[in-house]
Amino acid sequence: MAQLILDKLSKHFGGTQRAAVDDVSLTVREGGFLALLGPSGCGKTTVLRMIAGFEQPSGGAIRLGDRPLANDMTMVAPEHRNMAMVFQSYALWPHMSVAENVGYPLKVRKISSDDRRRRVSDALAAVRLEAYADRRPADLSGGQRQRVALARCLVTDPAVVLLDEPLANLDRHLRQEMEETFRDFHARSGATMIYVTHDQAEAMALATDVAVMSEGKLLQVATPEEIYARPEGRLVGSLIGQGAILSLPSPGGDVRLLDRETMQRLLKTSGGPSIDVLVRPQDVAIAEGGETAKVVSALFEGERYSLKLSLPDGQALRAFSRLPVRVGEAVPVMIHSGWRL
Ligand code: ADP
Ligand code: MG
Repeated sequence: MAQLILDKLSKHFGGTQRAAVDDVSLTVREGGFLALLGPSGCGKTTVLRMIAGFEQPSGGAIRLGDRPLANDMTMVAPEHRNMAMVFQSYALWPHMSVAENVGYPLKVRKISSDDRRRRVSDALAAVRLEAYADRRPADLSGGQRQRVALARCLVTDPAVVLLDEPLANLDRHLRQEMEETFRDFHARSGATMIYVTHDQAEAMALATDVAVMSEGKLLQVATPEEIYARPEGRLVGSLIGQGAILSLPSPGGDVRLLDRETMQRLLKTSGGPSIDVLVRPQDVAIAEGGETAKVVSALFEGERYSLKLSLPDGQALRAFSRLPVRVGEAVPVMIHSGWRL
């Protein structure tokens, strides 16, 4: 096993104007769990297919440690990359039992039946499906089928596991259960994992690192905590977590994290060049002495109300409140911090 390196990777499909993947450079550390996040059509699947070897890059290179997998001289076939890809449609054979499905890649590799039995039972244990070895896929739930697909990928002991929106077909409850399975699977297998999703909450909950893509380009790679606290640019700021982006007069300088005094001052100033400031709802307090804002909507979420507010100049702000507030009411708001995008 080794780190996976994408070096200035590009893909241009014939007959299209824009590159599907545009100069993407990225290192996934050995044993890391990277979520590749971005809106539909931004090039996530194309990146994954190039890593797997199903698609030849138009430019750039892919390496696994020191080993070149793809560049302008080399194109290693998918079956020689020591990788496994899990698809959205589990692609299980209906006429085979769970154990036969999981053992199939080993049979193809002509592994002895004793060895095969042992590895299948280890893989089924890793996804907690020991008791289902003799069932057929048709007798399993969607989540269980997804776990069979994971076990089948684990059985060949791949260095890199590629997952393309594996939970997109499941309902919310099952998705949460499966998120645990993926984390568990990652911890047990030690494999390097790349997980494609358009769901930011899923990416943040699962991965050790999040890479955000838009229109073929890589915008930012960081830990979930880092990308939440310090997003680079409007797009990442609006894609990750909740919040509002305010256009405010520039305070000058290059300070990114704006404190309460600065925020209150900027809210009262007008004119001059403006900057984009991301304000998270938990950094907005309903407290005397602040600007007056109007409650546009109040959504009861059980633990709290989620508020949409409107500032005097019409800009939207998000906040939480533990006390009930009425729509249309005017409330004083204090912004404790803002992040300059
Ligand atoms: P995502 O997985 O993020 O939704 P894709 O990687 O599937 O995005 O697609 C990225 C872009 O490349 C899209 O504009 C898509 O239409 C285009 N694309 C993908 N595959 C092909 C192909 N085989 N031929 C032409 N264009 C393609
Ligand atoms: Mg896709």
